[in-house]
Amino acid sequence: MARFTPEQKLIFTARKCPYCGGVPELREAREIFGPAAEGRGRYYVCPGCGARVSCHPYSEQPKGRVASARLRALRRQAHRLFDIVWKDGHKRSRYNAYSWLALRLGRPRHLVHMGYFDEDDCLRVIDLCSRFLVERDPERYSALVLSPESRNNACGDIDASHK
Ligand SMILES: [Zn+2]
Repeated sequence: MARFTPEQKLIFTARKCPYCGGVPELREAREIFGPAAEGRGRYYVCPGCGARVSCHPYSEQPKGRVASARLRALRRQAHRLFDIVWKDGHKRSRYNAYSWLALRLGRPRHLVHMGYFDEDDCLRVIDLCSRFLVERDPERYSALVLSPESRNNACGDIDASHK
């Protein structure tokens, strides 16, 4: 069984930009953010539209597809909430939490990965995780639920309330 289509494989490994079709290039963090970012790892950057993704530490292996500024912000929010779901002990493990997410998203497990998600996926993950956490412990987590406006702007600071 083919796990990924050739197109998915190209996009998920940052060899093709899903926005403009460009071929992302490997860059050092300092080339993007300036000298202060020396040693902060590597990125794949689309020369066409600037979408980017960071690499796993000390490697040239991208964490997923290249992302626009909006997707990067949504990804950070989705990631924070998802991490709370499993790190606060509501799921047995990170893997277990991903399986839960796969079921809720109605998608095969191998396609459920923060680095693969697009904007709509991230919004669904933010929604699923927010609801899950608030159901578990309204007092502790209700501040995490974002208004639709702040989701669209992708600028709500959702982890300030999480200690
Ligand atoms: Zn691009």
